[in-house]
Amino acid sequence: MSGKSRNPEAGALWREILGRTRCVVVKVGSAVLTSDQGLEAKIVGQLAEQIAVLQDRGLEVVLVTSGAVAAGRARIRQGEQKKTQGIDFAELTTRQAASSIGQSLLMHAYDEAFARHGKTVAQILLTHDDFKSPVRFRNARNTIRRLLDWGVIPIVNENDTVAVAELKIGDNDKLASFMVDLVGADLFVNLTSADGVFDKNPDKHPDAVCVPCIADIETLNTKAMCEGKTSAGSGGMKSKLEAAKHAAQRGVPTLIVSGKCESALTRIFAGEILGTLVLPCVRTVV
Ligand code: GLU
Repeated sequence: MSGKSRNPEAGALWREILGRTRCVVVKVGSAVLTSDQGLEAKIVGQLAEQIAVLQDRGLEVVLVTSGAVAAGRARIRQGEQKKTQGIDFAELTTRQAASSIGQSLLMHAYDEAFARHGKTVAQILLTHDDFKSPVRFRNARNTIRRLLDWGVIPIVNENDTVAVAELKIGDNDKLASFMVDLVGADLFVNLTSADGVFDKNPDKHPDAVCVPCIADIETLNTKAMCEGKTSAGSGGMKSKLEAAKHAAQRGVPTLIVSGKCESALTRIFAGEILGTLVLPCVRTVV
């Protein structure tokens, strides 16, 4: 859905938000990055190109990415190993093992794609517990701050070997919203396989419409909006809205937008309204 037919107020708000954005967390899900054949090199390449341009304009970008499980699963399927025949790819430990194979493929793809634009990337693997420990939080923040100061692009995923929170329900949405706090981002962009947040499930209801702006996510009735989820990732719209709420409660807006849409990042940072803008909460806490 393009900006011209959308809410003009959302357009003005979006341009105001862009005007004060210095640091952005961009999250991309498995359903955008991968197919049954594994990582989509073209999508990784387009994402890297767009982020490189944003960084050249002075924006700090932290990329939170899924895709390790799907990449690893595809690699196992391509292999001839007898031991891996007939395995249940839905089982949790299998997904952790697939992730450990796919994580290096994922980083290799990003490393090559960003290198084409003269950019260096860094792998950061974290768990939810790392955000609860003051020492680990500080260590992660210091490391990422140093990387950003060097112009390196931190690429974050959950450490699936030791934690399963995002594998079970998150699709890295929660991890990405925690990263917003950790790096002090002004904006959270969640690139998903849907065009944005719909008023009801568009797969079941042909009359569903994409909501351009959510002004008060704390009072939003999310039940109807959150039936169903994409097959490659684990989160669905519910975890995206919960992540947006986490960011909103900390004063940070979120844009939930299709990562399949051509040049989505370039277009939104040029001021175009795509997807759904979730505004920060404005309530005074006493
Ligand atoms: N860490 C997982 C991955 O990289 C994310 C969870 C998911 O996408 O389901 O695949």
